[in-house]
Amino acid sequence: MIYRNFQDLKLSALGMGAMRLPGLDIPRLLDLYNEHSFTGGGFIAPMALMAVPEEKHPSACIGCRSCEKVCPQQIKISEAMADFARKMGA
Ligand code: SF4
Repeated sequence: MIYRNFQDLKLSALGMGAMRLPGLDIPRLLDLYNEHSFTGGGFIAPMALMAVPEEKHPSACIGCRSCEKVCPQQIKISEAMADFARKMGA
């Protein structure tokens, strides 16, 4: 687990609203990651990702950590994307 609790990660994701780098929609993916992780799975995140092009899935994260260098809350985004991709079976 990367964050102490759901609220920490949720607040972090919300705080990144302006941080929409070209490529992955990080705040949206973190929101789905929160939902999936803290509800123990389910269909919401997999269903939401069905509407997202594959090149924008968490599995498309190459772990370059560019986003982490500018994240004001120092979220380990690459680790969250890797874990999310694993949970999605990628
Ligand atoms: S680590 Fe790199 S590839 Fe992954 S979400 Fe951040 S900027 Fe995108």
